Amino acid sequence: MNGDVLRKALLACLPEQAILTDPAGCLPYGYDNSRCQAQPDAVVFPTSHEQIVRLVHFCRDQRIPLTCRGYGTGTTGATVPIRGGIVLSTERFNRILEIHPEDRYAVVEPGVTNQQLQEAAGQAGFFWPPDPTSAAFCSIGGNLAYNSAGPRAVKYGTPRENTLGLIAVTGSGETLKTGVYTTKGVVGYDLTRLLIGSEGTLGIITQATLKLTPTAQHIHTLRAIYRNVHAAARAVSAIMAQSVIPCALEFIDGQAIRIIQDYSDIRFPEGSGAMLMIEVDGPLAGLR
Ligand SMILES: Cc1cc2nc3c(=O)[nH]c(=O)nc-3n(C[C@H](O)[C@H](O)[C@H](O)COP(=O)(O)OP(=O)(O)OC[C@H]3O[C@@H](n4cnc5c(N)ncnc54)[C@H](O)[C@@H]3O)c2cc1C
Repeated sequence: MNGDVLRKALLACLPEQAILTDPAGCLPYGYDNSRCQAQPDAVVFPTSHEQIVRLVHFCRDQRIPLTCRGYGTGTTGATVPIRGGIVLSTERFNRILEIHPEDRYAVVEPGVTNQQLQEAAGQAGFFWPPDPTSAAFCSIGGNLAYNSAGPRAVKYGTPRENTLGLIAVTGSGETLKTGVYTTKGVVGYDLTRLLIGSEGTLGIITQATLKLTPTAQHIHTLRAIYRNVHAAARAVSAIMAQSVIPCALEFIDGQAIRIIQDYSDIRFPEGSGAMLMIEVDGPLAGLR
C-alpha cells in the first residue's frame, strides 16, 4: 500500500491529525535508544482505546505489521519497525485519569511519563515505586512493557509488584481487562503480571491501574567505600540479611571510580576498589 492509499484507509480508524505518512515526519519514529533504525510506512497517534481496537483489526485484516512505541528510550530495538508497517505512538494518549490516595491507586493512560505520574502522586503524598533513570522521558506503557525499574526495586519491587490491573488490546483486536482495584487480589490467572514485561508482544496496554505507596517521611543516603568488589558484595549480602533493608542500593566498581576521578573533581580515598550508595527511608527515629 503506498502512503496516500494507506493514509486514506487509516482514516476509518483515526482522525486525520492522528496519521503521519510523510517519510521525513515518520523517520524519527523508526529508531530508539538501540541505535537500530527502520523506516515506518506510517505513524499513528491514537488517543483512545477504541481507536486502537479499530487499528489492530485493520492491521490484522490487511496483514500490516504494527509496532507499539512509548518514547523510544528502550535499548533493545523493540520499537524499531524492522518489517515496515505502522508505528503506534502513545505520546498523545497521555492523561492521568484518577488518583485515589484513600485507596492507594492511580489510573493512567499509557503515554503519561513516569515523572508526570510521580509529580501528580507526590502532590497527594504518594509515589509509584518503579524509578528508571529515564523517568522524565519514558512512558508508563514502556515501563510496563519492559518491566523497567531503578534503584528502588531492591525494596519496593518492579512494575510487576506495583500494578493492580491493566486494559489492553490483543493482536486479534480483543479487549483484555485484568486485575483488581484492591491490595489483595488472589483469584484467577495473573494476566497482569503476564502482560508486564511482554514488550508489546501480547497486547497494547491502553490503561493501567497502578499501586501507589506513601512517600517516606525521611531519606538518608550513605556512601560506603571498599577495597574491592568482593568486600562490597559481602557487605550487600549482610545488608540484605537484615530486617530493615535500603530503599535503594547502587554498586560502583573500581573502573567507574577511576573514570569519575578522571573526569571530575570528586576524590576517593587511596585504594578504593568499589563503592555502595545506600539509601534508607522511613520515620526519622528509625533511621538514626
Ligand atoms: C538515559 C536512560 C536511562 C535509562 N534508565 C533505565 C533504568 O534505570 N531502568 C530501566 O529499566 N530502564 C532504563 N532505561 C531504558 C528505558 O528508558 C526504559 O526501559 C523505559 O521503560 C522505556 O520506556 P519508553 O516509553 O521509552 O518505551 P519504548 O522504548 O518506546 O518501548 C519499550 C517497549 O515497550 C513497548 N510498549 C510501549 N508502550 C506500550 C504499550 N502501551 N503497550 C504495550 N507495549 C508498549 C514497545 O513496543 C517496546 O517493546 C533507560 C534509558 C535511557 C535512555
